[in-house]
Amino acid sequence: MTSFSSALVSRKQWLLSDLQSLGLRIVNEAGSSSSRRGGAGPSDHKAISVMGTTIMVPIHTKPAHHSPFTATPPDQYGRSVLSRDGETEVPIIFPPQPHFYSMHTADDIPYWKLAQLHSHNVLATTVLQTCVRYGNADTKCQFCAIGESLKGNRTIARKTPEQLAEVAWAAQHYDGIEQVVLTTGTPPTEDRGASILCDVARAIKLRTGLAIQAQCEPPADFIWFNHLHEAGVDSLGMHLEAWDEEVRARIMPGKAQVPVSYYLKAFKAGVAIFGRGQVSTYLLAGLGDTREGLLDACHQLIELGVYPFVVPFVPIGGTPLENRQPPDADFMRSLLSPLGDMLTTAGMTSDTIKAGCAKCGACSSLSSFEKQSSCAA
Ligand code: SF4
Repeated sequence: MTSFSSALVSRKQWLLSDLQSLGLRIVNEAGSSSSRRGGAGPSDHKAISVMGTTIMVPIHTKPAHHSPFTATPPDQYGRSVLSRDGETEVPIIFPPQPHFYSMHTADDIPYWKLAQLHSHNVLATTVLQTCVRYGNADTKCQFCAIGESLKGNRTIARKTPEQLAEVAWAAQHYDGIEQVVLTTGTPPTEDRGASILCDVARAIKLRTGLAIQAQCEPPADFIWFNHLHEAGVDSLGMHLEAWDEEVRARIMPGKAQVPVSYYLKAFKAGVAIFGRGQVSTYLLAGLGDTREGLLDACHQLIELGVYPFVVPFVPIGGTPLENRQPPDADFMRSLLSPLGDMLTTAGMTSDTIKAGCAKCGACSSLSSFEKQSSCAA
């Protein structure tokens, strides 16, 4: 197994991983751009540009309330100063509120309820905001908050292809969006949501030509990968979340009914359609998998041509895991440093991916570690 030396970690890598593990306190939120609570994806986070990289940093989580990091209220351009224990670290920027957030559909649904800006250039939406596993404590994923934004009337249950194509066009033209991430709760059908993702991808591609990633559970029939590709999906995400079957059964009892072995079959079929490096998976560090287990998983996934997007677990308010501690930054660095080397060696760095979370990279500092061999400043 690859060894880890903290001496090889640059100041930027150190700062990004510390920020994502410890979170940030905003001294006075007046004038800052909005952040998200609940929902799928980077909930309870805020996008911040630090040393040229945009990352999502926890701000509403319990650990973030005790973070040594603070930021001053941003000025009219989003500029702020990051401090640690009262000592100035670096200037930072909060990306501005996108223009499309002030627009709405002809039937008066605000665009921000249909899709959200992630990081600084990604349009992300949960096409189906309900999940067959969510309503039942015996099946729901313990970290997931997909139902919270629906409950809070901050989104709608099902977005149509026409609505999302309209929002994507506006986000592309008024806010410079460069790619689209389509995720979905899992419906009780064998396609696992692939069918509605096809319809939405087709409409968005036709209207905007933007690069698209679709995310769903592995369908029963892998022919859906062909359909997704033909509909205009460029990259595919199927998210394991955890690797060890015991951890999976404890943290996500419903989803764990689909074993890792089935995901591996699906990955192989997906790579055959989308290409090496264009299929990715989330692995949430901090749910119980060991460092060695996760690195072994990453090794196997990279061999298959799958990008392992290793992300620090964030305890989201209102979920059963809201009081669980996130992984500490040393643990993350000890994982991401050798993983960055593995991805660099394999030629599967995030910049080679056409679309998706692994390309965006804002929910992890992983991509900053991919470049460590060429920029160790
Ligand atoms: S990696 Fe980027 S696109 Fe994916 S959930 Fe995080 S911010 Fe959104």
